[in-house]
Amino acid sequence: MGIERNDHLWSQQHLSHYVAGDLRLRARRRLDRHARDCVDCGRGVRAMHSLVYAMQGLGGLGGVSAPATIFDRVRSAGSTPPPRRA
Ligand SMILES: [Zn+2]
Repeated sequence: MGIERNDHLWSQQHLSHYVAGDLRLRARRRLDRHARDCVDCGRGVRAMHSLVYAMQGLGGLGGVSAPATIFDRVRSAGSTPPPRRA
């Protein structure tokens, strides 16, 4: 247990608003706190962030093809940590 189902459903529904900056501070905090405890929502938040960064990068260039650095940015905000050799 530990994770409240209500919070989970609510968080899933508000993920896109969270990254779009549409949520009020109190709502952001609620989602933040839940995402820290919930693997699913934590992953969702990171995925959304990656998406937003990618879109901002493209939009900021005014239609010019994206530079290679955009992939670094997406990766740094992304969900997969760099592979580690044993
Ligand atoms: Zn959740």
